[in-house]
Amino acid sequence: MTHEEPHEARPEAQADTAPGGTAPAPAPAPVTVLGLGAMGTALAEAFLAAGHPTTVWNRTPGKAEPLVGRGAVAAPSPEAAITAGGPIVACVLDYDALTAVLSGQEALLSGRTLVNLTSGSPEQARAFADRAADIGLDYLDGAIMITPPGIGGPDATVLYSGAPEVLARHRTVLAALGEPVDLGPDAGIAGLYDTALLGLMWSALSGWLHGVALVGADGVRAAEFTPIATRWLSGAVAGFVDRYAAQTDTRTFPGDDASLDVHLAAMEHLLHASRARGVDTTLPEVFADHVRRAVAAGHGGDSYARLIEVIAK
Ligand code: NAP
Repeated sequence: MTHEEPHEARPEAQADTAPGGTAPAPAPAPVTVLGLGAMGTALAEAFLAAGHPTTVWNRTPGKAEPLVGRGAVAAPSPEAAITAGGPIVACVLDYDALTAVLSGQEALLSGRTLVNLTSGSPEQARAFADRAADIGLDYLDGAIMITPPGIGGPDATVLYSGAPEVLARHRTVLAALGEPVDLGPDAGIAGLYDTALLGLMWSALSGWLHGVALVGADGVRAAEFTPIATRWLSGAVAGFVDRYAAQTDTRTFPGDDASLDVHLAAMEHLLHASRARGVDTTLPEVFADHVRRAVAAGHGGDSYARLIEVIAK
């Protein structure tokens, strides 16, 4: 959404990046954080650490006290927080909580900027963006891809979508949280990536735990197994993913590295080793089920990427 005229007068509309790169860097821009759970507190701490004047509000007031001790201003109400100045960064439990906090504040929100880092579905983000447009609120949706201790650190990435111009305007302040990644104008895309990436994380974590259980049954400690596992994940497995991305996009699946027939035989070894050690086989049964279906359809000579046709149907 664009609101060119009122932007000039609004405190949060002030760009936090120096134009042209030659002017001296401006003073750190103000920012407001709504929600001081584990994540909201980490966000406020990162803004304070980067020198941004930070206003905070939480439903349960006591959670603001440690932040006030570090220089934050505690707003006594959502109204006071919304009007404190700077972009409003919201991070509460879910969209119902966010709606509860903002309901009745439409007049105050008009002409302001909301960066919503509350997790939700892509559909919730799109519906919220539509409501924001109706009341003249600039809305940027975001997904935080790290846990609270990592906020502001080198592994912190925050995905944004819905309003590239809002991200550009507030990029410096938002960069205090982690590397901002712009996923374009569809407000639902950040949440969609979030769910996809969490699915990938859970698959990897459960696969690692399955491996830990398997080697642990023969006396190997997780700390011994894990350096080999992380090297495998970040090296070879990451390389397979890069290779199969192109195959998946072009729907061509040459099995010239390892065919599904070869994968299925290896999966039978995993199932056998798991059963022999009393390790749960639910996870490898899922892998094997996907491969068996592709093989039954005549694709045993193809690469692992062929399974997209089983999974995406
Ligand atoms: P949390 O520690 O449980 O904090 C929840 C926050 O929501 C608290 O500030 C709580 O206020 C507030 N809240 C809940 N219901 C409310 C309501 N009806 N009205 C007003 N405020 C309400 O959760 P969190 O870990 O900070 O997570 C916050 C968001 O960040 C979630 O959407 C989560 O999915 C997302 N996120 C978290 C992580 C993570 O690793 N923790 C990572 C990425 C994304 P009170 O203090 O008053 O209860």
